[in-house]
Amino acid sequence: MNFSTLGLMPSLADSARALRFEAPTPIQQAALPSALAGQDLLATAPTGSGKTAAFALPLLQRLLSTPVPQRRTRALVLVPTRELAAQVGEVLRALTQPLNAGQRTAVLFGGVSINPQLMGLRGGADVVVATPGRLLDVVRHNALRLDAVQTLVLDEADRLLDLGFATELDEVLALLPAQRQTLMFSATFDERIRTLAERLLHQPHRIDLPAEGADAPPVLQRAIAVDSTRRTALLRHLLDTLQPDRALVFVASQHAADHVAAKLNKQDRYATPFHGGLSQGARQEVLAEFRQKRWDVVVTTDLASRGLDIEDMPLVVNYDLPRSADDHVHRIGRTGRAGRSGQAISFVTAAALAQWNLIQKRQGMSLPLEVLPGFEPQESPPEPGPGHGGIKGQRPSKKDKLRAAAAAAAAAAGGTPPVKPPGR
Ligand code: AMP
Repeated sequence: MNFSTLGLMPSLADSARALRFEAPTPIQQAALPSALAGQDLLATAPTGSGKTAAFALPLLQRLLSTPVPQRRTRALVLVPTRELAAQVGEVLRALTQPLNAGQRTAVLFGGVSINPQLMGLRGGADVVVATPGRLLDVVRHNALRLDAVQTLVLDEADRLLDLGFATELDEVLALLPAQRQTLMFSATFDERIRTLAERLLHQPHRIDLPAEGADAPPVLQRAIAVDSTRRTALLRHLLDTLQPDRALVFVASQHAADHVAAKLNKQDRYATPFHGGLSQGARQEVLAEFRQKRWDVVVTTDLASRGLDIEDMPLVVNYDLPRSADDHVHRIGRTGRAGRSGQAISFVTAAALAQWNLIQKRQGMSLPLEVLPGFEPQESPPEPGPGHGGIKGQRPSKKDKLRAAAAAAAAAAGGTPPVKPPGR
């Protein structure tokens, strides 16, 4: 199968080929025919599956096949993060550049001065890729009108909701024509996404690509038991033995990212932190340098777990486990992109074992917990108690709470808690 047989115009099929997209990925095969026919779309697809081109190509085809005398913004792509905005903008520009059709794409995101973005909009833009907050700012500056938008894309819709953009989303939707095509993509599908889809989409073509399966990228997942104090040594051991040409390491905090990167640096690794505490400029620089393979290791927080598209990332390490199973899916999605193989290794300390079991359960997987020679764990799990509240899904049950309340009341009355008589 090739792009032309899916209904893509020859010039865009050539542009895709120029990006070395020889054959359409499964999400592109599933999305293109209906999206090109103007239908709404609701697609659940794993990260790294090629979803950007799955919406970019149809929206560009619509622009190119219905030229207008005056430039107006006819396509809007809403994304949750700056990194994703920059990345989607790059793909759109790369696809339009060989066409010489004069299509302009504007990319708008917060955290940087608004002025260059306002200046960039002076001649208008056919396509706007934006995070919701900055988009609204730009509209309030009268630098952009959205009343001619024909195609709306919500990319990583679940993340838009996770990051609290629901109100901004409503404000943006109020500025758009009711008559339009809407393409909605989400890595996960839950009640919130279903409700949003029901509100926004008209008889959508539903695509649900499994995260695992014949077409899924070949990611080898491993879990290694280790003491918390030995994690940096284990990381170093893995880098020495697996010799990946790059690795992305996830930690729980900005401080930990700085700390682990500094420790690796001392051990002659080119490692750098990447997190929300860095300026936008510094973050973009790290990303560009990582792409050029100038860093061996980037140590990051969950900021980078979505929207970070580095081709050919052979190793992802969960130095600290993520708080939720969803975040785990997105971290893992940084490797094995577009069919390239990769390894995702989770470090499991005694204190994090309960959390790991929960993540596995939510994902319906059960990995053997490896113990590597020289890294045999000595730590024992902490006593269950009030300090346990940080794990999603590990809150005390109603029964636990009733028991605790009864015990507390009995203690206050100077008695002993009620005991269930034996045999009942
Ligand atoms: P995405 O899910 O859009 O972030 O894409 C993930 C990766 O797949 C990116 O590095 C794309 O450049 C690459 N990609 C997208 N479509 C194709 C294709 N048809 N053939 C090969 N690589 C692709």
